[in-house]
Amino acid sequence: MAPHNYLNRSLADGIRKVGFRKWYEHELLSSHAHMLLALLCTIALMATLELFHGGTLGEKLLNTLLFIISGAVGLWALRRYLYLLAHAETLADQANCQVCQAYGLLNVAEDGDRHDGVRVKCRKCGHEWMLLP
Ligand SMILES: [Zn+2]
Repeated sequence: MAPHNYLNRSLADGIRKVGFRKWYEHELLSSHAHMLLALLCTIALMATLELFHGGTLGEKLLNTLLFIISGAVGLWALRRYLYLLAHAETLADQANCQVCQAYGLLNVAEDGDRHDGVRVKCRKCGHEWMLLP
């Protein structure tokens, strides 16, 4: 399970407060925002490489600093994008009720965030199963 993050609710918290479908939508939007940040960092990296030609020593040091910051933020954003997308897709694949085939109509069946998954209950038929991260 991901460490607590103020931008992304945990699965159990998300299902309780907004429902599975909204939680999933929010995770996808958040992951794609990170992809956009990674893309912008790539553009910044290319711009700093372009600026290495010429300039004073101070400007070259500033370019080096901007290059390192852009690379670090870009790698973090790419990693976060891939994690959020894979996590959301893994859980969405398990969100169909095996009995009535309802998609994403879930309630959390037991309280407390568990690290090995979330026990959920179908809103239509009451079938219970585990959503495993
Ligand atoms: Zn069901």
